[in-house]
Amino acid sequence: MEIKKWNIIDQPRPVIISGPCSAESEEQVVETAQQLAGLGKVDILRAGIWKPRTRPGSFEGVGVEALKWIKSAGKETGLPVSVEVANAKHVYEALKHQIDIVWIGARTSVNPFSVQEIADALEGVDIPVLIKNPVNPDIELWVGAIERVLKAGITRVGAIHRGFTRFAPGKYRNEPQWQIPIELKRRYPELNIICDPSHICGKRDCIQQVSQRALDLDFQGLMIESHIDPANALSDKDQQVTPEQLDTILDSLVIRRMNGANDLLGDLRTRIDQIDDELLQLFSKRMEVAEEIGNYKKQNNITILQTGRWNEIIEKTMLKAGKLGLSKPFIERMLKAIHQESINHQNSVMNR
Ligand code: PEP
Ligand code: MN
Repeated sequence: MEIKKWNIIDQPRPVIISGPCSAESEEQVVETAQQLAGLGKVDILRAGIWKPRTRPGSFEGVGVEALKWIKSAGKETGLPVSVEVANAKHVYEALKHQIDIVWIGARTSVNPFSVQEIADALEGVDIPVLIKNPVNPDIELWVGAIERVLKAGITRVGAIHRGFTRFAPGKYRNEPQWQIPIELKRRYPELNIICDPSHICGKRDCIQQVSQRALDLDFQGLMIESHIDPANALSDKDQQVTPEQLDTILDSLVIRRMNGANDLLGDLRTRIDQIDDELLQLFSKRMEVAEEIGNYKKQNNITILQTGRWNEIIEKTMLKAGKLGLSKPFIERMLKAIHQESINHQNSVMNR
């Protein structure tokens, strides 16, 4: 998959997309847009016209009528406008109303049939398309959706990271699982990735922190929901911020450069590379020993998994890790991964 580098907006700083979760009335859309434009920090307006809701009975959007409102908000402010599309009909309507940018939502990018339908409807039109991650943490599905859009001839493709569904209630509405957008970036360095802290957080008070995290990970922009009266919003009321609150959030963000100006950063990176090298050597040695153990177990008819021994390793290592200032969840995940890899090596020796 070849991705062309493009600037969502011609500027060096991260792009800011903002506007209400849903378009509710012409006044609400236009007034929000004017206040956002007045901040001088918002580059693109957003509004949901067709709302994919988890449960029926919630507000499902105004539909086509609202396209005119967002278009007139664009005219009044001079800002480009964006909406979510979830099927071919949405694409036709958005194009008919000369919407500038469309995005594919998380409940749509999860379904290759829907994405293909949208891609087919976009064929021959070169409008920027942003693709949200699917609700489930499946990077291949996200990549697949991007590929379908690229194959339709769209050249200005970007990704939006909005977090992933979690099973139990937790800090976030949608778990960020930062390793997934980081892996996407590693595979496709030219891809613009925007973070949507509103849908990750589900609550206003963590938007600043998630936004800063995204900028520190070199995301190209932020999509933040804003409403003139969040308490009375018809959708996502807990996560929307007023334009004034958005102003405070944006002012607080520190934009760090990708490359340090001095050699210190280079030196530190060299040290990190050396340490990573050493870690790899150690892993390789550990697997050699695991294979020797596998041979021994094979000759003596002993099972691979020795639960008592495994518990002992976990307990001992966690205790040491705590003393070294390493977080327990990290060490536990790492140990489990190493243990699994050792079992695989033993298994290959025993069943050779
Ligand atoms: C939205 O942007 O309003 C939306 C519905 O988001 P998501 O697809 O991320 O749930
Ligand atoms: Mn929303």
